[in-house]
Amino acid sequence: MTSSDNFDQEELAKFESLAHRWWDRNSEFKPLHDINPLRLNFIHERIPLAGKKVIDIGCGGGILSESMAQKGAVVKGIDLGKAPLSVAKLHSKESGLDVDYEMISAEHIAEREAGSYDVVTCLEMLEHVPDPSKIVAACAQLVKPGGHVFFSTINRNPKSYLFAIIGAEYVLKLLPKGTHDYAKLIKPSELSQWVRQAQLNSKELIGMSYNPLSKKYWLGQDVSVNYMVHTQKS
Ligand code: SAH
Repeated sequence: MTSSDNFDQEELAKFESLAHRWWDRNSEFKPLHDINPLRLNFIHERIPLAGKKVIDIGCGGGILSESMAQKGAVVKGIDLGKAPLSVAKLHSKESGLDVDYEMISAEHIAEREAGSYDVVTCLEMLEHVPDPSKIVAACAQLVKPGGHVFFSTINRNPKSYLFAIIGAEYVLKLLPKGTHDYAKLIKPSELSQWVRQAQLNSKELIGMSYNPLSKKYWLGQDVSVNYMVHTQKS
């Protein structure tokens, strides 16, 4: 790893080994499938996606990328995981949705394509990188003036430890053990500081909750565990 690299090989490996099951709705990726309509609608209700140029940072197997393409966006997806990207490419061929996938870092594509996107999405990815503030800055660099950037991640506090790690990985077994590292979880105050430093304006912060009995997810005011933010470049 050189000083400019901002990825963790161990984090990437977690997704490499599971990638072949990415589109299996009953796999480790079930939570991503289940929350996708909520987060897609959150984005689409604020910025109607048809015709918009969108980049999805840390796209993985392409669950969000494809769904945005289905809404009519012109989507590019980037990730540093080889297997997730192969799965994403293969799946887009099957589904007939045109997404341009590339293995490149957020920082590198930000240098190459600065100011070219209407919308940038970076969901469930920041908590897997060594320096998330650099990813936030790269997202800010990629978006056009007046464009929108969406982030989602997991809060860091005793409740999120109990729900997102103990509950999801050990009790309900929704995610493999070790998927999330407590120390890497991100408080909304930390994310909003990186957002400000990147010269993005925070527009909205919304929580995502899960009820294990009803197995339902919903968006609301409770940001203590999973949350999303909508930001805009001046
Ligand atoms: N954003 C997708 C996938 C989330 S899983 C979704 O929400 O549906 C996290 C993804 O982040 C994985 O695909 C992993 O390979 C990717 N990732 C982790 N570190 C990364 C980095 N430094 N640069 C780019 N992608 C990264």
